[in-house]
Amino acid sequence: MFRVENLSKRYKTGDHALKNVSFSIDAGQVVGLIGPSGAGKSTLIRCVNRLVDPTEGSVFLNGRPIARSGSELRRARRRIGMIFQDYALVERLTVMENVLSGRLGYVSFWRSFARRFPQADVEKAFALLDRVSLSQHADKRADALSGGQRQRVGIARALEQDPELLLIDEPTASLDPKTSRQIMRLIVEICRERGLPAIINIHDVALARMFVDRIIGLRAGEIVFDGTPDQLDHAA
Ligand code: ADP
Ligand code: ADP
Repeated sequence: MFRVENLSKRYKTGDHALKNVSFSIDAGQVVGLIGPSGAGKSTLIRCVNRLVDPTEGSVFLNGRPIARSGSELRRARRRIGMIFQDYALVERLTVMENVLSGRLGYVSFWRSFARRFPQADVEKAFALLDRVSLSQHADKRADALSGGQRQRVGIARALEQDPELLLIDEPTASLDPKTSRQIMRLIVEICRERGLPAIINIHDVALARMFVDRIIGLRAGEIVFDGTPDQLDHAA
């Protein structure tokens, strides 16, 4: 289970971007994070993976706090799979190499790249590529893929590190509507299969409604809605 407790963030130059935010997410539950620009969605995501330090509050992943700094933080980050709007692939590497780069980090990745990857890692990456229907494209370079295919590589790469949480930032913002729906469906299916909790920062409320289990609405740094898509219809 994932839990955020009394999380607040005040940037040096501004007012509170997050005010005393608390919630938990069960295994396999996918939460769509919605709210107008400036509501604090990115700040919340960044406080969880510690790209920014919260001013107050704590983040717990399966009972263990996400640490503030150093090697503990690196270990904690490995427990969080990130999926990005712009995919963040290494364009001139193959699909397989991109997936393998997930858990290793930059330096270890290049070291293994020079020496060949352990067979077990390759098999695992291949199984993940199969799950996202890309096993036939394992040896293609990332820059030869469509947007939807790239995002599926991004999903496989995030899973490669066996995360305990997925943090997903606008995964469909660069995709057409049909591909967006396919990607959302895939993410939700995989989270259910693996019992993975996920937070999706998503500006497309209609798309969120179609696929996620639960919606958290932020406004001016505070939770103003927390419920099912159906409940959102009645609140609106
Ligand atoms: P959202 O992702 O919902 O658009 P953000 O988390 O980016 O919201 O922003 C929340 C608030 O914090 C906004 O008022 C924004 O201007 C402010 N903010 C975000 N990042 C910074 C920063 N690095 N420094 C100062 N203020 C920031
Ligand atoms: P997003 O599309 O993620 O909401 P923004 O355009 O809000 O991105 O922010 C882009 C970058 O600018 C982010 O790194 C954010 O932290 C930073 N930022 C946003 N608002 C402010 C602000 N008021 N002062 C300083 N930096 C900010």
